[in-house]
Amino acid sequence: MDEDYENLLDRARSNVPQDAFEKSGERFQVPDVQAIIQGNRTIWQNFQEVLTVLNRPGKEVLKYVSGQLATAGNIEGGGAVFQGKFNAELIEDVLNGYIAAYVTCPVCGRPDTHMEKQGNAYYLKCTACGASTSIRPV
Ligand SMILES: [Zn+2]
Repeated sequence: MDEDYENLLDRARSNVPQDAFEKSGERFQVPDVQAIIQGNRTIWQNFQEVLTVLNRPGKEVLKYVSGQLATAGNIEGGGAVFQGKFNAELIEDVLNGYIAAYVTCPVCGRPDTHMEKQGNAYYLKCTACGASTSIRPV
């Protein structure tokens, strides 16, 4: 790591108020998962609302969450529908795993990231600190 990069990181960090590093910081308020069980299906009602905050494509989040729940899922209207009965707390746990792996910058801890594909590799690019972190695709 060269010195300019270190300086850039230091500057980026010192410009950020401490509480912005916390997940509950006002810039990153992920709404509580609202889910209801209907018959043998679970409907995550505010899926679209969560996606908007995460700034991630629905298909990808759906793939991750349904993979973790080991069930099939699809998007219906603004919600996500999973086969099986899952409570909101469990979905929220899975969602937090997604956020930790694919949204939060591992260098500065902020959520100002987007994903980029370069060849066959995926990178999490942070607009707050400039870090580029190699990640596994969902
Ligand atoms: Zn960062």
